[in-house]
Amino acid sequence: MKNNNLKLAIQKNGRLTEDAVNFLRSSGLQFENYKQKLFSSCRNFPLEIVYVRDDDIPDYVESGAVDLGIVGQNILNESNKDVKNIINLNFGICSLSIAIPKNSNLTLVKQLRNARIFTSYPNSTKEYFKKKNVPVYIMAVSGSVEITPALGIADAIVDLVATGQTLALNNLKVFKKIYDSQAILITGKQNSLSMEKKILMQELIKRFKKLIA
Ligand code: ATP
Ligand code: ZN
Repeated sequence: MKNNNLKLAIQKNGRLTEDAVNFLRSSGLQFENYKQKLFSSCRNFPLEIVYVRDDDIPDYVESGAVDLGIVGQNILNESNKDVKNIINLNFGICSLSIAIPKNSNLTLVKQLRNARIFTSYPNSTKEYFKKKNVPVYIMAVSGSVEITPALGIADAIVDLVATGQTLALNNLKVFKKIYDSQAILITGKQNSLSMEKKILMQELIKRFKKLIA
């Protein structure tokens, strides 16, 4: 990896990977097959594309380890990092939603008073119920949240939903939406960036904006 090149982090292996790679290629960047690699060097721009877990991207951008990142807005909402959203990328569209068993007939949020809620988004969940003034028990788990109602340990879950297919497969349905999310391009403070890198970054961002427009 060339250290004076710009660095952009994308998800290594997940829902945003293919769309992020396609987006970068559509903007004219040329780089070779990304599978099983930790990074790719662009052939026609001084840029390294770095593949990491999506949860780590805001940290790397905030600390300046990378200059740019593509990540779901949901990750930022949950973790509150000091990074800037430069462009909404129009992919990775989903929402953070409360889901309940399919056969439940709840209609109001306040009916969840004292409910046991499992989620991988405890901060977003806590904030939502605090605003609604409804006390609930929030339990944080790192994955497979949809299984918890069937196990009898959750009355509701808070999870990312796109089509609702995964919920339906687990006999769940959307109850209320907490917020909408999509993939975004983020940068950090850029204070310590060289003038040369700042100019390159502006050039790259201009390309991306043109593609979105
Ligand atoms: P990693 O191994 O990188 O931590 P992950 O399992 O946390 O991956 P994915 O499930 O690949 O993450 O989701 C990545 C992002 O894709 C989410 O943070 C979200 O922004 C977006 N996304 C779009 N649709 C959905 C969906 N239906 N479910 C979950 N995430 C979705
Ligand atoms: Zn993740």
